[in-house]
Amino acid sequence: MHDTKQIQVTRSSMPDFEEYMEEIRPIWESHWLTNMGPKHRALQEALLEYLGVEQLELFTNGHMAIELTLQALELEGEVLTTPFTFASTTHAIVRNRLDPVFCDIDPVTFTLDPGKLEERITDRTCAILPVHVYGNICDTDGIEAIARKHGLKVVYDACHTFGETVDGKGAGTFGDVSCFSFHATKVFNTIEGGAACFREERLAKKLYELKDFGIHGPEEVSAVGANAKMNEFCAAMGLCNLRHVDREIEKRKRADERYRSHLEGIPGLQLNAVQPGVRSNYGYFPVIFDPEVFGADRDQVFEALAEQGIMARKYFYPLTSAFSAFSGKYDPAETPVALEVSRRVLTLPMFADLHMEDVDRICEIVLGCSR
Ligand SMILES: *Cc1c(COP(=O)(O)O)cnc(C)c1O
Repeated sequence: MHDTKQIQVTRSSMPDFEEYMEEIRPIWESHWLTNMGPKHRALQEALLEYLGVEQLELFTNGHMAIELTLQALELEGEVLTTPFTFASTTHAIVRNRLDPVFCDIDPVTFTLDPGKLEERITDRTCAILPVHVYGNICDTDGIEAIARKHGLKVVYDACHTFGETVDGKGAGTFGDVSCFSFHATKVFNTIEGGAACFREERLAKKLYELKDFGIHGPEEVSAVGANAKMNEFCAAMGLCNLRHVDREIEKRKRADERYRSHLEGIPGLQLNAVQPGVRSNYGYFPVIFDPEVFGADRDQVFEALAEQGIMARKYFYPLTSAFSAFSGKYDPAETPVALEVSRRVLTLPMFADLHMEDVDRICEIVLGCSR
């Protein structure tokens, strides 16, 4: 019985049906479905407070938050970034007609290694786009020192860090802009959604207009914007989920601890490092397999789990620099650490309602591969 149950890598957090119905009831009275209505405003206010940021603009998804942020900053030239990320990060650069320049990552946090940035800076470099991978906070001091020295903008892909704090400071307070995703698979979701967080007031108006076709006034369109507005139903979902997100993170923490109780200290396995001063959101449970030491490689573990109906994920694999979309324009071998991690990493199922017995069973299968 137990063995036939499928376990996905993630499972979306949802409020009670009645709670959501109550939240969307006013929409039936107002007929205001989208275009920055009351739910949109309420969620924006609630998130400013929860995330502890000065300014926040909502978007239809995390990707458009990043893409339109790069447009709003009026960048030109090359952007230093990591290939160890989701397609979105690199696509946001390329879709803005900017050139990604891939730099290598730190083998412990899997985030951009500041020591690898300066050698790739040219007179065309305009910005750095780092990613807080698996909720691991980048070396923000190191990155921002280089940015200041060379006059570069810094936009963080903070899609993995919802609700995290660093020494009590919100994870969305770093750089010129930090972008979050509220996709269904993330720690906090609005079904689809995202936000850009920043300080500069001027950016707020610009991003607001860019997500609405660049419409500046009833008779003026002053920029070539997109349609990236969050609708009222998604905002309502966010308002509900936000009420429960701390408890959801607490439940994820218990799953994280259970995984660690089985996998910590096993030769050939590297787990996500615990960063001092960081309140984690336990969004992912990545494991790096060293096949020589562990006795099985990542793909063998992936297959063994799949045979038992457990859907782990090769995340991130392949590197974005290896995507066929770029037809060999970039060389993944230029970032050897990222390349190796992408070949060895497997993220195990992680969500708030994951049962402890399932964590036990997953670990038993993983550890069984080494024999
Ligand atoms: C989810 C994610 C995105 C994109 O967010 P969407 O809301 O799905 O558009 C971008 N970068 C990273 C690292 C992500 O995990």
